[in-house]
Amino acid sequence: MSEKIGVIVVGAAGRMGTRIIHVLHETPSMRLVQAVERPDHPSLGKDVGEIVGLGRSGIPLEGRIRKGEGEVIINFSTPQASLESLEFARENGVAIVIGTTGFRPEQMERIKELSKEVRCVLAPNMSVGMNVMFRIVQDVARVLGQDYDIEILEAHHRLKKDSPSGTAIKLGELIAETIGRDFNQVGIYGRKGMIGERTREEIGMQVIRAGDIVGEHMVLFGGVGERLEIIHRAHSRDNFARGAIKAALWIIHQPNGLYDMQDVLGLR
Ligand code: NAD
Repeated sequence: MSEKIGVIVVGAAGRMGTRIIHVLHETPSMRLVQAVERPDHPSLGKDVGEIVGLGRSGIPLEGRIRKGEGEVIINFSTPQASLESLEFARENGVAIVIGTTGFRPEQMERIKELSKEVRCVLAPNMSVGMNVMFRIVQDVARVLGQDYDIEILEAHHRLKKDSPSGTAIKLGELIAETIGRDFNQVGIYGRKGMIGERTREEIGMQVIRAGDIVGEHMVLFGGVGERLEIIHRAHSRDNFARGAIKAALWIIHQPNGLYDMQDVLGLR
């Protein structure tokens, strides 16, 4: 019997799932035990190692999670599939790391409810650099937030489905909260036409979708005669995959509850 931590990857044939399986392959303390995809995926039954370019692994791509094997789920898929994995995790005493973005408010409420009884890390951006940026923008907002105009810009690849990115929304929410505003009220998504002058309170959100951009986020604090820009650029998906593995190693030792990468990285 192996002492390695068994990991179930959901969304295994996707862009993130593929990189997670690669990073797992290089992680001595963990092993892939199940690779799960949507029930109608064309590669079901094929060896997942071969699908992701690592050679034969002995693990087939399956259409649903099986009970009994695996201590932690890593899920980068769709909001609905992530909720299903979370329910499975709760019923079977398995920990879970969710990297999926684009949850509707009622789905977020369900996650909060379910995670009272399950160990869950949910983070729209698992990169270490981005999580440091979450902190920095709050520090800057505390000093400049009342006097400078705040704009958030994000750019991603052409295949990304949700907009703005979960990361950009989190940046907006953190900044708004820090300076006593409600992002639901002050967030302005794009601008067009004779809309008049910018208000002091609004936080602008601009979105680019192009080519194969992995992920870029900028927060701009615009004053009179100067501006301060804080930028994060992801060069590859491996930084997210490494963050997800770090989160999986951490969450298995925590009590039930909902955590994010600030908790995992000790940035609180
Ligand atoms: P992708 O479309 O390449 O991969 C998603 C995979 O999930 C696909 O292979 C799809 O077939 C699979 N899937 C769909 N329904 C499923 C189901 N019911 N059961 C199992 N698998 C199912 O997308 P991606 O670029 O890998 O991104 C996935 C998600 O992760 C998105 O929400 C994205 O925004 C998010 N993401 C988060 C981070 C982070 O750091 N948290 C980083 C990158 C991407």
